[in-house]
Amino acid sequence: MKYVSTRGHAANQNFTDILLEGLASDGGLAVPEQWPRITRPKLDAMRDLAYPQLAFEILRFFADDFPGAELKRIVERTYTREVFGTPEITPLRTLEENLHLLACSNGPTLAFKDIAMQLLGNLFESVLAKQGRELNVLGATSGDTGSSAEHALKGKKGVRVFMLSPNGRMSPFQRAQMYGLQEPNIFNIAIEGVFDDCQDLVKAVNADARFKADRHLGAVNSINWARVVAQVVYYFKGYFAATRSNDEQVSFAVPSGNFGNIFAGHVARRMGLPVRRLVLATNENDVLDEFFRTGRYRPRKTAETHATSSPSMDISKASNFERFVWDMVDQDGEKVAWLWRQLDEKGGFDLSTDRAWERIEEDSGFISGRSLHADRIETIRRVRKDYGVVIDPHTADGLKIAVRHREMRIPMIAIETALPAKFEATIVEALGEKPPRPAGFEGLEDLPQRFDVMGVDAEALKAYIAARS
Ligand SMILES: *Cc1c(COP(=O)(O)O)cnc(C)c1O
Repeated sequence: MKYVSTRGHAANQNFTDILLEGLASDGGLAVPEQWPRITRPKLDAMRDLAYPQLAFEILRFFADDFPGAELKRIVERTYTREVFGTPEITPLRTLEENLHLLACSNGPTLAFKDIAMQLLGNLFESVLAKQGRELNVLGATSGDTGSSAEHALKGKKGVRVFMLSPNGRMSPFQRAQMYGLQEPNIFNIAIEGVFDDCQDLVKAVNADARFKADRHLGAVNSINWARVVAQVVYYFKGYFAATRSNDEQVSFAVPSGNFGNIFAGHVARRMGLPVRRLVLATNENDVLDEFFRTGRYRPRKTAETHATSSPSMDISKASNFERFVWDMVDQDGEKVAWLWRQLDEKGGFDLSTDRAWERIEEDSGFISGRSLHADRIETIRRVRKDYGVVIDPHTADGLKIAVRHREMRIPMIAIETALPAKFEATIVEALGEKPPRPAGFEGLEDLPQRFDVMGVDAEALKAYIAARS
């Protein structure tokens, strides 16, 4: 399998080449030259596979330059009951007939990002060892991504993590999950500013090409292709768990921010998984809902991004969306490059009169909706009352829109993207009591924490990294 850039120009590359990379050299994102197609006999043969075997069968389409035996060892080491709590890894919980939750958040940081990040940590370690290289991951987080990356990379050989977070602005639980790590290859830097200051610092340091090369800087952000591929697996797993035969169709509902999770669903559908609808839910930050209703894509400015009670979806520019647009404009890189120039010059683009729009409306299966704070609170209450299950605010956004788009006899699978324990304040508001905490997380906030505080100063940050790498 060869990879190209969504903007058409970058040379053909292998999976291993793009594994450690951020943007392609032309500013686009890596995408496979063509989608692998799963034949019916192959799909039948996959139905009863355990999670690691299923992951291996899917990953090896995309990572065919990776030695098979090693890939197998890596997925077997990654997807275990010890790390994810159950042998199913992403068990299906039935709420009522044809309405399910796919539990994707039982990893070390209680959010679905662990599914991809844990794999990425093991893939990185393997590739770096083989190439005799080192990597210094520099990132910014407002909560979930940073802790998921740190838990996946802690103690890994050849990797250091420098993670910026806004000082005093994360929940006590999120803070404890990151700052409580004592591994010497993890560096938490609390920046005296907001999340955007953290992100600007990462950009400023990366803009120094010399420093970036000398210090082997890398990223594990949401555009990483391996993360998308890892997420394709649980769409297959969820489909098999909710159906009896491969003649049936299902729909998925996905609370979305950077469009990484639901794009993995799109990939599964393109590979031939019988997915009817991909229901995209946004919160108050509704750029994607607006696009799927109107054909107009208008990313918001940072100042227009609302801080909501489903904070991991507070995103105004959905980075993986470019991959979807590329696929819908017949994989025409020049057209994508032109559209993204419109974004820079005019702040948006409009596909409503383009051929691509017909395709999106008629063939893509995508449909969307927006859920507000009051909807989340109401959904959390109702799900507890009707089914005795406590869900987190992001999952509530997804479920709210899922229920609106249910169809007769088609199972609807809402993806559970985090556990409620991470968002105590909202659960208390909805239910009047604290959410349950999984075993092993009691007293998390009381453990010793390790972090350094720094001003918004790119030179100071560079000096900090240089002294430790
Ligand atoms: C990251 C995240 C999302 C959004 O997922 P995308 O892949 O960015 O669309 C939703 N819910 C939770 C809990 C998350 O951590």
